[in-house]
Amino acid sequence: MKGLNHNSKKNQVFIDLSHTIESGLVTYKGLPAPLICDYLSREESRKRYLGGAEFKIEKLEMVGNTGTYLDSPFHRYADGKDLSQLELESLSDIDGVVINVPYFETLEITPQHIIPYNVRNRAVLFHTGWDQFWNTENYYEKNPYLTMESAEYLRDQQAKMVGIDSLNIDNTLRDSRPVHSVLLGANIYIVEHLCNLSSLPQEGFKFCAIPPKLKGVGSFPVRAFAKIPSALPFIPHSISFFI
Ligand SMILES: [Zn+2]
Repeated sequence: MKGLNHNSKKNQVFIDLSHTIESGLVTYKGLPAPLICDYLSREESRKRYLGGAEFKIEKLEMVGNTGTYLDSPFHRYADGKDLSQLELESLSDIDGVVINVPYFETLEITPQHIIPYNVRNRAVLFHTGWDQFWNTENYYEKNPYLTMESAEYLRDQQAKMVGIDSLNIDNTLRDSRPVHSVLLGANIYIVEHLCNLSSLPQEGFKFCAIPPKLKGVGSFPVRAFAKIPSALPFIPHSISFFI
């Protein structure tokens, strides 16, 4: 299964929930694609070092909102916490729950979809299946999103983090961004452009999404992943999701 890595030594299964970032990749229409090039090429470096040693140093030019990324409160609020101010315990080993809302049934995620689940103190990951359109024209069209009422419900239920495998957690056909405003206003961090959520069980996993410690930056790519104790019987929650 894609993104799956058994680590028998630690008795855990690791599941990668991040898209690969490469030069030229468009994450969001209207924002520039990343430019990744050599600052120091291997060839150039050979002139600098003895003994045939060579290195490569890349130069990256990109917006923070690239690939699978985390939004901190600073993304929305000038006085909110930036990435350098986020506590590690708020980003790692968070109890996770997956909520399935297939994009072909509805694009709008309402409180009715969330109410059956315990979301308190959890990373709530919305699995819509939209990631299958990643890096295609379809991905940037009307996207699965949460309503403002869903964000308010998650805030009131004290969810810890909210993720989605879609272009945006808000409805991009509108000019307002109420879900960002409500969640980031309550210090609930957002992870967008997740992928591979179909590989997760409904619950019983830990979620991690840790950005670099950047001052004055609100959003940045993360290596989002889940850890599942391998002692648990491993049954992906949506094995028949796309059948
Ligand atoms: Zn966002």
